[in-house]
Amino acid sequence: MLQFKPIFLGKVPRQVPCAATAQRCIRTNDVENVGRTTRHHTFFEMLGNFSFGDYFKKEAIKWAWELSTAELGLPAERLWISVFEDDDEAFEIWHQEVGVPADRIKRMGEDDNFWTSGVTGPCGPCSEIYYDFHPERGTFDADLGDDSRFIEFYNLVFMQYNKKDDGSLEPLKQKNIDTGMGLERVARILQMVPSNYETDLIYPIIEKASELANIPYGLADDSTKLKLKIIGDHMRAIVYLISDGVNPSNIGRGYVVRRLIRRVVRTGRLLGIRGDGRENLEGAFLPAIAEKVIDLGTHIDSDVKARAPRILEEIKREEYRFVQTLERGEELLELMIADALSSAREKGTVPCLAGKDAFLLYDTYGFPVEITVEVAEELGVTVDMNAFDNEMEKQRRRSQAAHHAVKLEVGDDADLTANVPDTEFLGYDTLSARAVIKGLLVNGKSVIQVPEGSEVEVLLDKTPFYAESGGQIADHGLMCVSDGENQQRTVVEIRDVQKSMGNLFVHKGTIKEGVLEVGKEVEAEVDPKLRQWAKVHHTATHLLQSALKKVIGQETSQAGSLVAFDRLRFDFNFHRPLLDDEILEIERLINGWIGDAAVLQTKVMPLTEAKEAGAIAMFGEKYGEEVRVVEVPGVSMELCGGTHVSNTAEIRGFKIISEQGIASGIRRIEAVAGEAFIEYVNSRDYYMKQLCNNLKVKAEEVTTRVDNLLEELRTARNEVSLLRSKAAVYKASTIASKAVLVGSSKEIRVLVESMDDTDADSLKSAAEYLIDSLQDPAAVVLGSSPSEGKVSLVAAFTPGVVELGIQAGKFIGPIAKLCGGGGGGRPNFAQAGGRKPENLSSALEKARSELMEILW
Ligand code: ATP
Ligand code: MG
Repeated sequence: MLQFKPIFLGKVPRQVPCAATAQRCIRTNDVENVGRTTRHHTFFEMLGNFSFGDYFKKEAIKWAWELSTAELGLPAERLWISVFEDDDEAFEIWHQEVGVPADRIKRMGEDDNFWTSGVTGPCGPCSEIYYDFHPERGTFDADLGDDSRFIEFYNLVFMQYNKKDDGSLEPLKQKNIDTGMGLERVARILQMVPSNYETDLIYPIIEKASELANIPYGLADDSTKLKLKIIGDHMRAIVYLISDGVNPSNIGRGYVVRRLIRRVVRTGRLLGIRGDGRENLEGAFLPAIAEKVIDLGTHIDSDVKARAPRILEEIKREEYRFVQTLERGEELLELMIADALSSAREKGTVPCLAGKDAFLLYDTYGFPVEITVEVAEELGVTVDMNAFDNEMEKQRRRSQAAHHAVKLEVGDDADLTANVPDTEFLGYDTLSARAVIKGLLVNGKSVIQVPEGSEVEVLLDKTPFYAESGGQIADHGLMCVSDGENQQRTVVEIRDVQKSMGNLFVHKGTIKEGVLEVGKEVEAEVDPKLRQWAKVHHTATHLLQSALKKVIGQETSQAGSLVAFDRLRFDFNFHRPLLDDEILEIERLINGWIGDAAVLQTKVMPLTEAKEAGAIAMFGEKYGEEVRVVEVPGVSMELCGGTHVSNTAEIRGFKIISEQGIASGIRRIEAVAGEAFIEYVNSRDYYMKQLCNNLKVKAEEVTTRVDNLLEELRTARNEVSLLRSKAAVYKASTIASKAVLVGSSKEIRVLVESMDDTDADSLKSAAEYLIDSLQDPAAVVLGSSPSEGKVSLVAAFTPGVVELGIQAGKFIGPIAKLCGGGGGGRPNFAQAGGRKPENLSSALEKARSELMEILW
C-alpha cells in the first residue's frame, strides 16, 4: 500500500474512488521465518481491495466475508475473526450483520490489530480473518496465535487516522480501506496441504531443487526440508526483484537481491549442489531453478518470460562471482585447517580453528561461518565460535562508528529509504558540473573520508553522469577536487554509475590521487568521447527497432537491449533466424534514415498523451505520470530516459555484425554505429586487402578464387593419398620376401615390419596388398610413425591364421598399448594408433615373438 500513502493522507487527489490489486510483495523482515513457519515468505503475492474515501468498514467486512465464503467456498464455521480491542463497531458488524458467533471473534491489542505503516502516517484499527484447521478442538481457550491450529489469511485495515510525530492520532478527512490477502496462504487452505510450500505456487520449485540435490523431498529430514524451502522461497524473490529492475549490488534493494542469492548458493552447497554457473546455463545451479520460477510465473508478472534472458544472465553472473569468492575462501580454509591439525598434533591438544581465522574468511572473503564450521568438523576440527562472535561484535561497533555520514542500510521492510536525497541529473544538457559529495561508500559501508588508491562509491547532490538504465551503460569520466589553500588535488576515475532506490546515483570509481571527503565540492566531468559513442548506439537502437518492425512485422517487440560504447545489442521476439535479405534491408533502411540527417525531438509529456501518440514503451522500465519521449520524426517514437544524438547524421553509419538465437523465440542482433562502425568497416577492409594481395585478385573475385582453391586442394589431397598408397604398396612388395615360415610344417608366413613415413591409410593399403600376395595361411603386422609423436599399426591375418584361434582385432590392442595407444577391428583385419614412436620397434618385436609363440 506504500504507493497509496499520499492518497490516503489526501495529499494527492485520488484518480479512482476504489481499486483492487494483486501485488508482488517483498518482506525481508520475515527472512528468518522462511521455512521455519508454514506461512511466511520473503516474496509473496498480496491481493487487496482499497477505498480512497469511498466505501468503509461495513462494506469491507461484508465483502471480505462474501469473498471468503461464497467465492472461495471456505466453510463459515471454520472462520475466526480478530478485531481491535476498542473497535465495538467492527465487532457488531461481524456479529450482528454477518452472523459470526461471538466466541469466534477475538479482541486483540494494539500490537496485533492496529496497523501503522512506519512510525508516522496513515493508520487505523484492523480486523483479520483466520482459518481453523482443527475446529474439533472447540472454542474454549482457543488462541489465534497458535500456528498449529490457525492461519491468518486476510487483514482489513480501516485507515482513518494520521499518526503525527508526537504519536497523536489525527482523524483523516476521508476514511479509507486497505486490505491484504496472501495468495500463498489461501492456496494452502484451498489445496489442503500442510504448508504454503507444498502449494502449486512453490512446490514445483522445491521439487526442482530436490532433483538437483538428488534428495526426494518426501524422504528428506526436517533440516533438509528447511533448506529446500529456503531455496524455493528465495528464488521467487530473486527472480521478481531482478525482473523489476533490481540488480545485485552492495546497497539498498540491490543488496537484498545479493544477500538472497548468496543464501541460496550457500544453502545449495550444504545440500551438495555445486553448480558453478561458469560454462553455460546447464552448469549453473540458480538459473536452473530460476527457469522453473519463470515457468510458473506468468500469472504473477506477465513480463517475466520476455525478461527471462536478462534475469537468468544476471543470476548466473552473480552466482559465478560468489562461487569464486567461496572457492578462494575454501582454499584458505584448507590451509588453516592443516595448520590447526599440525599445531594440535605438536601440542597434543584438540584441533581447533581460531575465531579470528573464521572471521577473516567471513569478513574478507565473504565465506559463511556455517560452511567453515561444517568443513572443519568433517576434518575433525572445531571452530572457536566464542572468539568468532567477539570479532563480529567488534566489527559491528567499528561499522557503527563509521556510520554517521549517511545511513544506507537495508531497511526492515521493502520500504528502503535513504537520508540522501535523490540526485538531480544534469546530463541531458551538460557534460560537466560542480556538485557536492553527499555520501561515500566503501564495500557497501558508509564512511566520511576515503584515502588514495581506494575503490569508492560517491553520492552527489547533482550529476552530469548518466547512470546505467534502459539498456544504456553508464558514463565514464573524472571527479576532481582542488583544495586551493593546501594545494591539494583529488582525482577520482569513475567507471560505473548505478541508480539505487529510485533516483540516487551511485558513482563507482577509484581514487587516483588525494583524499575524498563528504561535504567537499567536486568538478564532475563526463568523458565526452565515450558519451558520444553511447549516444550514437542508443539512437541507432531506436532506429533498429523501427526497421525491424518494418521488415519482419509490427508484432515483434524488444526483449532486452544493451547500449555500449563499442556496439549495441538488441534482443527481440521472433521465431526464426533473419534472412540475409532481411538483414540487408534493415541496414539499408537505417543508413537511409542516418542520411536524412533528421533532427531528434525530446519532449516530456503525460504518459497517456505519449501512448496516444503511439510511443513505444521500453522493456523493463517503469513510468511515472510524466514521461520523456524521444522522437526521430516520421521514423521512431519511444519512451526513453537515455541520451541521444541531436541529429541522425551523427550516427554516420550502421552495420549488423551478428544475428543469432539466444532462447526459444528470442533473437539477438549485435550492431555497430558511429566510430565503431567506421572501425569495423576499416578492419574488415584491411583483412580483405590482405586476402586480395595474397590471392592476387580483386575483392569481388575473392569468393570464386577461394572456392577454386579449395577444389584444387581437395583434388591434390586425393592424388597425394593415392600416390602414397601406391608407394606403400611398392614398398610392401619389396619386403614381402622377408616373411618367415613358422609352424610345425613351416607352412605359415609371418611378416612383422616397420615402414618409414607411411600414413595410416597407406599402411592399410600395404597390409592389404601383402595379405593378398602371401599365400594363406599368413599373418602381417606393420607399424610406422607417420609424423612426430604418432604411431600407426595394422594387423592382417588370412582365414587360415584366424582358424588357429587368433584374431587381428584382439591381437593388436596390447601391441598398441605399448605405443601409448589402442585400437581394434575385425578378426582378419585391425588398425590401431599410439603416441610413443620411441616404443614402436619394441612393440613390433613383441608382436613378432607372440606370433611365433602362438603359431609354433
Ligand atoms: P503474520 O502475523 O502471519 O506475519 P501479518 O500480520 O504480518 O501476518 P499483514 O501485514 O496483515 O500480515 O499482511 C496481510 C496478509 O498478507 C496476511 O494476512 C497474509 O495473508 C499475507 N502475508 C503477510 N506476511 C506474509 C509473509 N511473510 N508471507 C506470506 N504471506 C504473508
Ligand atoms: Mg508478519
